[in-house]
Amino acid sequence: MDSVNNRRRVLLLGAALALPFAARGQTACGAVTPQDMEGPFYKPGAPLRASLAEAGSAADKMLLTGVVRAADCKPLANVSLDFWHADDKGEYDNAGYRYRGIVTTDWQGRYRLETNLPPPYSGRPRHIHVKLQRVGGRALTTQLYFPGEARGADRALVVKMERRPEGRIADFDFIL
Ligand code: FE
Repeated sequence: MDSVNNRRRVLLLGAALALPFAARGQTACGAVTPQDMEGPFYKPGAPLRASLAEAGSAADKMLLTGVVRAADCKPLANVSLDFWHADDKGEYDNAGYRYRGIVTTDWQGRYRLETNLPPPYSGRPRHIHVKLQRVGGRALTTQLYFPGEARGADRALVVKMERRPEGRIADFDFIL
């Protein structure tokens, strides 16, 4: 009898401890998103725009979305994400701003970028570069990779991706 009561007490205590987390609807956020090389092709001054996609591109269209959170799981509003990547021939636009653009997170920490899926180039797996900047706070330079292509530590930076008739749907959440 005592042991049943004790077990019940332990279960109730466990439920009480778990409740505040469940009530917030949040799970553990995990580790801060790792940084990755900037590479030689970053160019400051990219325009604020939600779409980099080009009608004439031979590459699939891709919609990349996700949420930016702090290490305590809170969604971060007004984080800027400065994206740059290669065109369908594996070239960066160093003269202008093709495939370069900045988007910002909304009040729920969500971001959204439409573009074309870049190809692999120069022996590197397919990737998208990004610099995140929190207002008055932390900055992060990293790269996103694609399923089945990343190597080693880069596997922590792989997007979830679905292929649909209208294009690719990619998803990645950052912890800043
Ligand atoms: Fe690159």
